[in-house]
Amino acid sequence: MIETKDGFGRQIDYMRISVTDRCNLRCVYCMPQEEQQFLPQEMLLTATQWETVCRAAAQVGIRKVRITGGEPLMRQDIVELVERIANIPKIERVVMTTNGVCLAQKAKALQKAGLQGVNISLDTCDRAQYQALTNRDAFFDVKKSILHCLDIGLPVKINCVPVSGLEKQDFLQMAELARTLPLVVRFIEMMPIGAGAKYQPIPNENIQQQLIQRYGAWEQVHTKDSGSPAVYWQNKRFWGKIGWISPRSHSFCHLCNRIRITAEGHLKLCLHHPANGDLKTILTQYTDIAQIQQYLMEQIQQKPKDGHMTDESRPMWKIGG
Ligand code: SAM
Ligand code: SF4
Repeated sequence: MIETKDGFGRQIDYMRISVTDRCNLRCVYCMPQEEQQFLPQEMLLTATQWETVCRAAAQVGIRKVRITGGEPLMRQDIVELVERIANIPKIERVVMTTNGVCLAQKAKALQKAGLQGVNISLDTCDRAQYQALTNRDAFFDVKKSILHCLDIGLPVKINCVPVSGLEKQDFLQMAELARTLPLVVRFIEMMPIGAGAKYQPIPNENIQQQLIQRYGAWEQVHTKDSGSPAVYWQNKRFWGKIGWISPRSHSFCHLCNRIRITAEGHLKLCLHHPANGDLKTILTQYTDIAQIQQYLMEQIQQKPKDGHMTDESRPMWKIGG
């Protein structure tokens, strides 16, 4: 079994690919209304190009692929894309991060194509607040998608970013989702990336205090996924779990097992560092997949030791969150 370690001995087996920079929401901390310079369609990687990149990545040790964006469901060929990647030998897991707005219609086909789980972004359970945050009245579409995914047995994690200055973002109400449904609610501290830099992060510790006060003692769950930055809690009153991703208060660079590829095909070895390589050009220059493998292998050696809150001026929707 091929394993690729970077220059600091970290095994790299997880790749996040941003398959589009377009989105049907305008979240205030990610893609505010005024920021809309999308890539021309021809700059995006095609399904065939993504398949080639993922095949090469599988050969150098990538086992899990997360499809993200922008909003990945904006791509017309998203089911085909999932199927192509899920069918690659050695890729063990294909998952997606989505805002969930159009997921109810596509979930069954995506699952059939090989999708094994979805992270659905939802910062509030209040319809008006959702509309204020995302600039779209889509709360009930997302809720429908969550319930539908659970119904068909597609595992769901909810990503909730606490937003400072937002009146009454009800974290207990968000946690209630994990008490009453078999899913994970993860609280993700705001990162100073793009428009997110305008918001003061709310430390996860503040929300943890609220949850302890409301539900009593929690037990930490140990997961098999050693490269995951999330810490999970369980409580006997909960059907699901609560997860904490705390990049502001805890560095997890020493555990990092991932690389990213942006929508225009730029390789990002660290979320907080500028992109390193241009895969789209490489794909047109190299005809042999072994050359792309070699390129990826060499690039992985360049992965920086850490990027703990190094400045990244590009917004999350361009990088692929
Ligand atoms: N559109 C999809 C979605 O919203 O799930 C996928 C892309 S979005 C960029 C991925 C995740 O990044 C979302 O959960 C979003 O809340 C999160 N995100 C965006 N900007 C962020 C920031 N500055 N800090 C932390 N998380 C952020
Ligand atoms: Fe779109 Fe996701 Fe960014 Fe919201 S967080 S604007 S849904 S890409």
